[in-house]
Amino acid sequence: MAAEPRRACLMGHPVAHSRSPMIHNYWLKQLGIAGVYELKDLTPEAFPAFVRGLGKNGYVGGNVTLPHKEAAFRLANARDAASEAVGAVNVLWVENGRLLGGNSDTHGFIANLDERAPGWNVKGCRAVLLGAGGAARSALYMLEQRGVEVDIVNRTLPRAQELAARFGARAHGWDALPRLLPSADVLVNSTSLGMAGKEALQIDLAPLKRSAVVYDVIYVPLETALLKAAHARGHRTVGGLGMLLHQAGFGFRKWFGGNPQLTPELRAMLEADIIAKTPK
Ligand code: NDP
Repeated sequence: MAAEPRRACLMGHPVAHSRSPMIHNYWLKQLGIAGVYELKDLTPEAFPAFVRGLGKNGYVGGNVTLPHKEAAFRLANARDAASEAVGAVNVLWVENGRLLGGNSDTHGFIANLDERAPGWNVKGCRAVLLGAGGAARSALYMLEQRGVEVDIVNRTLPRAQELAARFGARAHGWDALPRLLPSADVLVNSTSLGMAGKEALQIDLAPLKRSAVVYDVIYVPLETALLKAAHARGHRTVGGLGMLLHQAGFGFRKWFGGNPQLTPELRAMLEADIIAKTPK
């Protein structure tokens, strides 16, 4: 009798919009692995019981997305260093009957920057990080790991201050931006401003030096107004889709094994889907 296919899932609320199934199903097919990747829409009330029964319910693990990443952190029996540092788990896997947690957003953030803007980490590198939410935590942890001096700018100053204290960065309100931009080597937007359907990100890039790299973690639309403006000024730009793609391999290897690759075909497939579904 053939072995049951390995099953993993994405746990979130909502999950219908997710592009993770496109990525994992592409790799399953390409690598000839008989696996299944499902969507599980779970309310915050339903999430803990589902996670505790993950292995018993036939899953080898799964991804965790909003709003469950902190709850997953608490529910995991053990966690990797990156998730301990950021306080959030976005990958769960069952190993020897134990539920283990990891954070692959951190890896996705930095691998995308390394790939798209090689040499970005110049001597004495300084970054301005817009935002202090979940994406900002992943970005900040990796930037600090690479020895970058980070200034966090956020609408709600106490949130920025809490992050700054945790990671040895500095916190500022939005009004500090014109003063911070001239010395920035990397500008990262990790707020939801500029995302399709959200408010625009209002920012004057004029004080930014031409050599600065501009990175937007948003990937819907593929090229945000921030990236368009930066590109027009001659900056190197990095979009958010690569972060999504780079984080995905971590979970896939844990659940299904194999060596999933970020092929141009996979990227093109996601780009086409985003373009088709994003209002003009
Ligand atoms: P959070 O809700 O945790 O954080 C949102 C951030 O945006 C906060 O800093 C918040 O500021 C700021 N913000 C929201 N609205 C406004 C506003 N009107 N004016 C000023 N600041 C505002 O979200 P996440 O960190 O999880 O996600 C942020 C973005 O990153 C999303 O667009 C998400 O799609 C993207 N993302 C991309 C990933 C990828 O793989 N490419 C992975 C994860 C996220 P305040 O603290 O003041 O509320």
